[in-house]
Amino acid sequence: MLSYQHAFHAGNHADVLKHFVLTYVLDSLNKKDKPYIFFDTHSGSGIYDLLDNRILKTGEAQSGIQLLLQKKDELPLELNSYLDLVQKYLEKSLYPGSPEIECNKLKENSTLVLSELHPTEYEFLKQNIYKSESAKNKNINVHYRNGFEMLNALTPPQIKRGAVLIDPSYEELSDYQNVEKAITSVYKKWTNGIFLLWYPLLAHRDNVIQNMKNNIVSKIKKISPNVEICNISLCVNTKDSHQEVDLQNLSKNNPPRLYGSSMLVINYPWKLPESSQIAMEKVAEILGQNGSGSVEVEIM
Ligand code: SAM
Repeated sequence: MLSYQHAFHAGNHADVLKHFVLTYVLDSLNKKDKPYIFFDTHSGSGIYDLLDNRILKTGEAQSGIQLLLQKKDELPLELNSYLDLVQKYLEKSLYPGSPEIECNKLKENSTLVLSELHPTEYEFLKQNIYKSESAKNKNINVHYRNGFEMLNALTPPQIKRGAVLIDPSYEELSDYQNVEKAITSVYKKWTNGIFLLWYPLLAHRDNVIQNMKNNIVSKIKKISPNVEICNISLCVNTKDSHQEVDLQNLSKNNPPRLYGSSMLVINYPWKLPESSQIAMEKVAEILGQNGSGSVEVEIM
């Protein structure tokens, strides 16, 4: 049963990190005229209304992208491409999800494949893409389908240049295993694809999360020892900020807030680690709670 709704979280610190990296990768693919293919396995509904009660209830966009944009003059140039794109939507009280960002950046000679499994989110996604100005005259396929299964079925793609964003909701512990399985088996047949994996940083799942990351890296390195992998983490709080939560009694309705999140990038584009360090340091300074923001960029 899928119950996660991204509308509660759109525009939060995790989206800022994820969508900054996404924009960077799309810009780097766009530097050449050659076509590429982009897969988004867990698309969500594509565009979010910042006046929706769910988003107002958590206040996550207010303490995320909206707070960041209030300080636009202080932000480094590295954030420009992402911020210029989202600002147009924020002026209309909207926030673009990953599919809308991908539609904006997609070149007419390239292809975007989107997948969403929640029936309502899928309907919204289809409508949003259908209405989107940025999707006009572009090759976009929207699937009502399990994203892991879609990725496995459509790879290796005929066009070898391309990337995939894997952004599950991690509602079930099995998502961590599914991610590991999907990335390693798809990488084996598409070694030059760029893989972007978003994952949460949650104190009570620390072991599972670190195991997933380490297993992926060691399996990929076994296939291609010289592959370039980086891991970018943005924290807006400290890990022990969850200590007061009784982990035995976590209820589905009251999940702990993320203290941060990470992007693992396989075959990362030129200068992504350096640009992320500069961009996310300032983001951590602004979005970190009581000065506790931090950034870690690892080359693996
Ligand atoms: N990528 C989106 C963005 O950045 O705007 C947010 C995606 S949200 C974190 C995760 C989405 O995955 C949810 O809409 C959920 O319904 C969907 N989902 C969960 N399991 C799925 C699966 N196996 N295949 C495809 N979609 C799935």
